[in-house]
Amino acid sequence: MPQRGVAQMSSNGSRGASTGSNFEDARREMVARQIRDRGIHSQRVLDAMQSVPRHLFVLPEHVFAAYADEPLPIGEGQTISQPFMVAAMADALALEGHERVLEIGAGSGYQAAVLSLLAGEVIAVETQPVLASAARERLAHLGYANVRIEEADGSLGWPSAAPYDAILVTAGAPSVPPPLVEQLAEGGRLVIPVGRSEQQELLRIVKRDGGTNQESLYACRFVPLLGRYGWRQDPQEASGG
Ligand code: SAH
Repeated sequence: MPQRGVAQMSSNGSRGASTGSNFEDARREMVARQIRDRGIHSQRVLDAMQSVPRHLFVLPEHVFAAYADEPLPIGEGQTISQPFMVAAMADALALEGHERVLEIGAGSGYQAAVLSLLAGEVIAVETQPVLASAARERLAHLGYANVRIEEADGSLGWPSAAPYDAILVTAGAPSVPPPLVEQLAEGGRLVIPVGRSEQQELLRIVKRDGGTNQESLYACRFVPLLGRYGWRQDPQEASGG
């Protein structure tokens, strides 16, 4: 069962966890209870989740909930995924350290920071200019040098740096955007939430020998992927399938 200790600490805020070490403790608790105890055993993924200061990626008013077991608002109507989902998606990409990774939906840059510790290079695409520039500044300030934020419709991928060993989409798509499959390298992994706007399935698609193999990993709920192969601005209506 999910443990809610960190959420409780942060929602009442009464411990005044304003020092770095309290955040580090909260993060250690998050990694142990929310991630490792729920079945993510890759030490590299656990170390990356322990390393990235999630509280510096959320809006100031949510700092004390940064290590809670929940998604959080990051501005512009968008959310940073729940810590377990960030870790599970990173784990599903099976990164060894040398890969070129594409993330669609950079948002705050948090997931990109986690991926940057697991791969060689990360390109993260974001449509919302305000979020893209904030993420770019934040990542530079924190020293994540192998991540690049690009402002574009990521449902088209980012063809100029293709092929990618791994592609992660952190917004829910109506169907799998064909350009993303095209931009996968041989043996490459695409992890993407697909389904209706209220509920999606997290799919992992592996490209091999000219074909693809697809498996369903988790039920999930993400904010909508917009753009050419995403939903229309009004998330009730699909434009892409
Ligand atoms: N991974 C982010 C959170 C993702 S929220 C983090 O760690 O903070 C989903 C993001 O996808 C939002 O910021 C939204 O603006 C963005 N998005 C939606 N459609 C997109 C598209 N077609 N291309 C790029 N980004 C998109």
